[in-house]
Amino acid sequence: MAHALDSSPMAIGRNDPCPCGSGKKYKKCCGVVVTLKQVPARTTAAGARQCGTCTACCDGWVKGTIFGHEMYPGRPCHFRGAGCCTIYERRPSDPCRNFICGWLQTQSPFPEEFKPDRLGVLIIPVQWREKTAYILRSAGRDPDEALLAWMREFSLRTDRPFFYEQAGERKRFSAALNWGIARGRSPLPVICYRLTNSRALS
Ligand code: SF4
Ligand code: SF4
Repeated sequence: MAHALDSSPMAIGRNDPCPCGSGKKYKKCCGVVVTLKQVPARTTAAGARQCGTCTACCDGWVKGTIFGHEMYPGRPCHFRGAGCCTIYERRPSDPCRNFICGWLQTQSPFPEEFKPDRLGVLIIPVQWREKTAYILRSAGRDPDEALLAWMREFSLRTDRPFFYEQAGERKRFSAALNWGIARGRSPLPVICYRLTNSRALS
């Protein structure tokens, strides 16, 4: 079923200049009416996952600036329509095209029920010390014990660390740390990390 979404913000007239600075009328730029096809949760042919109605990475849980509009927790992307991106064809590389969603990526190790809009947590793959690692980022809630238990088992099996935040504290779990904890050496340390995009961790 196809349906049309009108993404016009209330305050901008459709014939007004587009606030993104393109010089075009709003109705022919960011306010264009986008026709969408409803996307199934999975495609039938390749079995690849699809975002469907999830918009977690456009809801502000990933920080970024898109054509001058800031996006952060509490402020969704200016260009997010009702369940869609209104500028999909010209969405920028950073943060949009470079963002990697652990649930959506090809051969994702994460189960179907970890879809971000159901889980309330984004799982973002990153490179860290020449390893694949993951950041669990709140998409509405902190990771709970059930998710952390799943991630710990996965981390020990694959030697992939993960980072997460609980009640404002940033923490790391890895096989090496677990080895130390098992021998009474140290509790999980609070560390600082910063996600600038899906690849960079500092
Ligand atoms: S968080 Fe993942 S599944 Fe949800 S919209 Fe973004 S890429 Fe798609
Ligand atoms: S421009 Fe589109 S893809 Fe990028 S954050 Fe905004 S809604 Fe999402």
